[in-house]
Amino acid sequence: MGLFRRRKVKKTEEKKSIPDGAWMKCDNCGEILYRKEVQNNLYVCTKCGFHFRVSSKVYRALLLDDGKLIEQDSGLEPVDFLKFKDYAAKIKKSTQKTGLKDAIVCGEGKINGIEVEACFMDFGFIGGSMGSVVGEKVKRAIYRARDKNIPLIIVSSSGGARMQEGIISLMQMAKTSAALNLLKTPYISILTNPTTAGVMASYASLGDVIIAEPGALLGFAGPRVIQQTIKQELPPGFQRSEFMLEHGMIDMIVTRHEMKEVVTTLLKHLS
Ligand SMILES: [Zn+2]
Repeated sequence: MGLFRRRKVKKTEEKKSIPDGAWMKCDNCGEILYRKEVQNNLYVCTKCGFHFRVSSKVYRALLLDDGKLIEQDSGLEPVDFLKFKDYAAKIKKSTQKTGLKDAIVCGEGKINGIEVEACFMDFGFIGGSMGSVVGEKVKRAIYRARDKNIPLIIVSSSGGARMQEGIISLMQMAKTSAALNLLKTPYISILTNPTTAGVMASYASLGDVIIAEPGALLGFAGPRVIQQTIKQELPPGFQRSEFMLEHGMIDMIVTRHEMKEVVTTLLKHLS
């Protein structure tokens, strides 16, 4: 579904990213907020607790000791092998905007002294879509975690598979899932807003522990597609973290402020 619905997800979610300027409005409570204050609060609304979407860089700083990541496979970049309309231009634009070569950054780091393999997705790069580079980097990160016998953490943020890479992007779902099957060390999957479609239907939902940020949109197909298919009204809060927890699809909801501490506790128990 990510193949065709990605654009819609991106459009509705785009409104929730932080605009430039000293002041900003919270899309959840409508409050006008001082941007600096929100930044200092880990990009969480100081009035209602709404979690704004953040870049991979911010999440790295939040989770890893001194924000330090020994990045791996940083040279991998997407190839427009289908000559898909506007894809090359989109890659270029996203690279300029984010400073990244694709929608994920992977490598080794420490969480309160515990060595981990960690991956951080970036929605800013073509909606965090998973193409051949994202899939390959995730697979290699899984292999490194396995070979070094250390836990794996993946922070997801994605609209799904990258349609510009056609079937090759869908193949990454099977590839990453198969690789995870070989992993014997703990894998913690952190879901941020939004984690949907092909990413949700592969590695994001395969964690030994699946943690979500509050209020995140999580799911495979979008609500409208489901509603039209089952021809029934969907319950309120459908596909948000809280709904998913209630229905056993995730293990816990953790705020950004508590994330590092909770992950540390889990790593100590699981290792
Ligand atoms: Zn708010």
